[in-house]
Amino acid sequence: MRVLDALHHIHDNIDGSLSYRWICRAGQCGSCSILVNGKAVLACQEEVKETDEAITLDPLPIFPVIKDLVIDPGEAYDKLMKCEPYLKREGKYERPDVLKTEDIADVKKFRECIECWCCVSACPVVNQVWDDYFGPMVMRKLCELKVDLRDVGERVDTALNEGLYHCTTCRNCWEVCPQDIEIPEKAIEHMRALAVDEGKGPLDSHNSLVQSIKNYRNPWIMPRARRAKWAKEFDLKDKGELMFYAGCSPSLLFGERVPSNIIKILKRIGIEPAYLGKDEGCCGSPLLKVGERKAYDAIAKANIAQMKAAGVKTIMTTCAGCHKSWAVDYKEFFGDYGIEVRHVTEILLDAYKKGLFKFKDLPKNHIRVSYHDPCHLGRGSGVYDAPRELIKAIPGLELIETERNRENSHCCGSGGGVKTGRPEVAIKVGQERIRMFDKLDVEYVITCCPWCEQHIDDSIAASGSCLGRTKDLIEIIEETMEIGRDE
Ligand code: SF4
Ligand code: SF4
Repeated sequence: MRVLDALHHIHDNIDGSLSYRWICRAGQCGSCSILVNGKAVLACQEEVKETDEAITLDPLPIFPVIKDLVIDPGEAYDKLMKCEPYLKREGKYERPDVLKTEDIADVKKFRECIECWCCVSACPVVNQVWDDYFGPMVMRKLCELKVDLRDVGERVDTALNEGLYHCTTCRNCWEVCPQDIEIPEKAIEHMRALAVDEGKGPLDSHNSLVQSIKNYRNPWIMPRARRAKWAKEFDLKDKGELMFYAGCSPSLLFGERVPSNIIKILKRIGIEPAYLGKDEGCCGSPLLKVGERKAYDAIAKANIAQMKAAGVKTIMTTCAGCHKSWAVDYKEFFGDYGIEVRHVTEILLDAYKKGLFKFKDLPKNHIRVSYHDPCHLGRGSGVYDAPRELIKAIPGLELIETERNRENSHCCGSGGGVKTGRPEVAIKVGQERIRMFDKLDVEYVITCCPWCEQHIDDSIAASGSCLGRTKDLIEIIEETMEIGRDE
């Protein structure tokens, strides 16, 4: 049974006044979009599982509700129309209008949109500042027209005016899109790259970050040698099959506690990864996000070559953004380069399951905590279970999930260059995330990303929330692990 069947049953047998919208019943008209258990879906495509004791249906958020599940998408159409969503041609064209298949290859996927507005309702930035950011559906349309060779509209300018640099690249729009349109990467990041090509991007506030990566191979304007300071005490080799890629932010911010704790933990269980030291450079993710594709390509290719030269078979990451770079983006742009990429929590979960360590009790024996899925680790790379399984294995910690978790998690607001370029937007999105944690009566939030960690703390401060300092999961594992396991 699909949710739409359930609605029909309720309407025909229980409450004839129930109002909902539907037309095709085949996932092609986009009319029946609603929220099911907090996630935007098409009611005609969403299954009611036999195991479901109850499901919650709501109208799509953001839009005015006409009645029950029927929303008024008028404002969304007004915004779309403001962007002139039709081909603008140069002069009068000759018929027949001959197009080659390859000329419209890039246009085709964008044209599959069925105007269901799921993506708009799921976008954390639209939810905060819709007037400033017209949202994923409009950005998709602008990119469709931009890559159409026949169109002569100023599409990049329009996208910039309507908030191109507001998107955090959280991927929630793609996650809920019934047509599987890859808006964050294929539309937003692509349009940002075109903006840079046309000399209109990135934002002025991104410039120091971009220059720093080009000059110092980190975004924090710190000398190259500084990034390896945390590793001095460990005497790690710079070649080996397992390579720890520490990343810029873990290496240079927050007292470098995460990378040094990772090595301490691994040494205790007999794992000695290699580490490139001061020769490790930025993964380039911030460049990709703001549209600096040429610089990004050069850095990414050099990074891959460096790993191959070091004989690496597995790269171990800690930062969510680095993980997505190595595990997803590099492979998307440059093909499979033959090296496995694993997040440190996946490696530690394997070691825990093999009995290489156990956890001791925390000093306080019952602490309610929640977990924030970093967008680039969760939706970006598909790592949801390893951090949760480790948290659940620590005695005394009780994991309480927010209403938005795993694939449907809510962005913290800091990604995609937004914390640097649009800090006021980042904080608004972050405060919405904090409201979700505040409902849970938890002591603190755990995450696996230095950007999320920092931004959740900034958002806690801006919200006046009573949540304690956000912790990276590694910090808790380092405090609570013991070697060996009780039988
Ligand atoms: S990636 Fe996230 S912030 Fe960007 S348009 Fe999609 S939902 Fe909105
Ligand atoms: S892009 Fe996808 S989610 Fe957004 S309106 Fe179109 S079909 Fe719906």
